[in-house]
Amino acid sequence: MTCEEAQELITALVDRELLAPERGSLQSHLQECPRCRFAVEQEQLLKQTIRGCAERMHAPGELRDRILSDRRISPKKSHTRWQDYIWPMRHLAGSALAVGLFLAIALPAFFLLKPTSEPIAAALLKTYDLFARGELSVRRTENPDEIVEQLTRAVGGHFHPMDYDFTAMHLRPVAGLVREIQGRKILVAIYQGPGSTLFCYTFFGSEQDAPGNAARFYDTTKKMNFYAFSRGRVNAVLHREGDIICILASELPIDQLLALAKLKAKPS
Ligand SMILES: [Zn+2]
Repeated sequence: MTCEEAQELITALVDRELLAPERGSLQSHLQECPRCRFAVEQEQLLKQTIRGCAERMHAPGELRDRILSDRRISPKKSHTRWQDYIWPMRHLAGSALAVGLFLAIALPAFFLLKPTSEPIAAALLKTYDLFARGELSVRRTENPDEIVEQLTRAVGGHFHPMDYDFTAMHLRPVAGLVREIQGRKILVAIYQGPGSTLFCYTFFGSEQDAPGNAARFYDTTKKMNFYAFSRGRVNAVLHREGDIICILASELPIDQLLALAKLKAKPS
C-alpha cells in the first residue's frame, strides 16, 4: 500500500468504517510508515476536539435562521455528511491551521445544517438551556392557574399541562410557554425555587419520543415505564399518561428527578 492509498483510508479507519481486509493492509502500512501514523493521530485528535466542542457550541437563533435560509449554504434537499465539509481541508489535517479553520467554518455549518432528525425530547432540552442562560424571555406570573389556563388555551383545550405540585421541594410554577417542534405543540411549565429550576413539558406523543439512548425504568407499583436521559448538565425523565407525554427536566441529580416523576405520575 502506498502512502497515498493509506491517506485515503485514514478517516474511515478512525471512524471504524473499514472492513477487515482494508483495515489489515492499512495497519501493516502504518507499522512501517511514521508519516501515516502521524496522520492517524492527527485525525483522532481532530475528532476528539470536535466532540469536545460540540457539547459547548450554541449558535444564536438569528444566525441559525440566516444560515438555514441561505440557499447557497443550505440547498433544499441536502443530506450532507460532515465528512463532506472536512474533505476539502483533509490534506491540511495535522496542522493547527486545519483544526482552527475547521472549528471556525465547518463545525457551525455541520451543527446548523444537520437534518432535524433529533428526537423531540432532546430538542426540548435546548429550551431549558436557553432559559438557564437567560436567553429565553418568558412572562412571569405569580398565579399558577393562569399558567394552566394560558397553556391549555394555546392547544385549543385538547390537553392540559400537568399541574404538578412541587411545593414540598420549594418549587413554584413561575411561567408557561408553548413551543412548536416538528409540527407538534409542546406545553412548557417552568417551576423555580431557591437555586433550582424544573421544566415540565407536555405534548401528544408516545414512548417512542424518548431518545434511543435513554435508560428505561419499569415501576412495578405504578406499572409504568420511565425513561431517563441527559443533555449536558440537564437531566430529564419522560413518562406517558395516555396519549400525553410528560418530561421533567432539571439540573437536579437524575435519581432525584426519577423519584419525583415516579411520585407524581398517574397511571393511565
Ligand atoms: Zn505512509
